[in-house]
Amino acid sequence: MPDIKPAAAKKRRTKKEAEEEGENFPPRPSPHLILRDGNHQRPDRRGSGLFIGAHISSAGGVENAPLNALRIGGNAFSCFVRPKMQWASNPIPDTSIEEFKHRVAQHGFMPPASTLKKEDGARKVEDCGYVVPHGCYLVNLANPDESKRDKSFEAFIDDLQRCEKLGVRLFNFHPGSMTAASATEELAPVDGPRGDVRAAKADACALVASYINSAHALTSSVVILVENMAGSKNDTILGSSLYDLAAIIAGVKDKARVGVCIDTCHAFAAGYDITNPAAYAAFTELIDTTIGWETVRALHLNDSKFPLACRRDRHANIGRGHIGIGGFWNVVNDERWNGTPLILETPALGNAVAAYPAKEGTKKMHEVWSYQIQALHALRGTKWGEWKEAEEWLTKADRVVEEAEKLHATKKKSGDKKSIPKKKAKKEEEEDSDLSSDD
Ligand SMILES: [Zn+2]
Repeated sequence: MPDIKPAAAKKRRTKKEAEEEGENFPPRPSPHLILRDGNHQRPDRRGSGLFIGAHISSAGGVENAPLNALRIGGNAFSCFVRPKMQWASNPIPDTSIEEFKHRVAQHGFMPPASTLKKEDGARKVEDCGYVVPHGCYLVNLANPDESKRDKSFEAFIDDLQRCEKLGVRLFNFHPGSMTAASATEELAPVDGPRGDVRAAKADACALVASYINSAHALTSSVVILVENMAGSKNDTILGSSLYDLAAIIAGVKDKARVGVCIDTCHAFAAGYDITNPAAYAAFTELIDTTIGWETVRALHLNDSKFPLACRRDRHANIGRGHIGIGGFWNVVNDERWNGTPLILETPALGNAVAAYPAKEGTKKMHEVWSYQIQALHALRGTKWGEWKEAEEWLTKADRVVEEAEKLHATKKKSGDKKSIPKKKAKKEEEEDSDLSSDD
């Protein structure tokens, strides 16, 4: 994906970056709901309100991530803090760490540790801030091969230690998968999530929990969030059922440093309907009875390219997939998400970003995410079905996407290889730790 150089190559701030510091960022929607009388909802309660952002690029250095979050009007963000598809990694330069921390604090992505009051009864979640880096994709702590598991654990610890160096308090990862060989012959039910965890899955969940325990011993503060997954046809992926997540959490000793990140696309793909208020209520009720609401510390906001229970992990832009705008209305009008980082991992332009030179492509991606964030805020406090304003924002996003797709198709057709520098783009993607469009 777009943008510049590998993280380690840059030490000094360039003139260009100094200019970016003075850059005008788009307006950032208030996390607080603006009431009809013009007042904010409970503005006095620290951490109240909806903190919506996106998984943005840390290309050119992790210190660029908070700037990219500002470029989309985000009040929260996710990024990679090590290469997402590579075992090896260079350490983050100290200057990058300092700059990252400075920007995160300056722009309110993290409450400063000195202001935290443990006794004030507010949800502890709120003390953890709104930055939730995403773990390296290669990590599979449930791999039946012990040497491969150890390798995974090394990268897992690397991720966690980076978070701690960066002062980040939340981190989310995919719980992994058993290989087909380690799964039982039993066929997965086709009518939605199971009510219990099969024996093989239970063993794998216990294994993941034991690695989380080891990780806790090697780190001091970061809270590890296990993400729910879309699943697969042979049901070897952990986390496709809320019961998997509950099984993992049950095996973790330090409950204060483990939690769950719910992904709307993954939930829907796994068979949990959230498209209407009744279905959403049933899903959140199930979250409460299986893992406990307090355990949910982050949310990924994604629409799904494929229908309910498709068991395919393909994200779509907000309101443009099978979940639809109503599913997101349910989320943003649910006060229980107050103070929790809500992260878009939508494709925005998807592959069509290649139609543009890197910098321009990044700008257009940011534009799409900023419209999606505005749309989500516009859904707040409206009645079910009254989402004209949100639709207007999403239409703006559509226009940017459609234009990119058209241009991309034209360039592909005319065989304009120069304008789609595949090899270069791939290399950059590896170095820059961007998010793939289908995860
Ligand atoms: Zn996710």
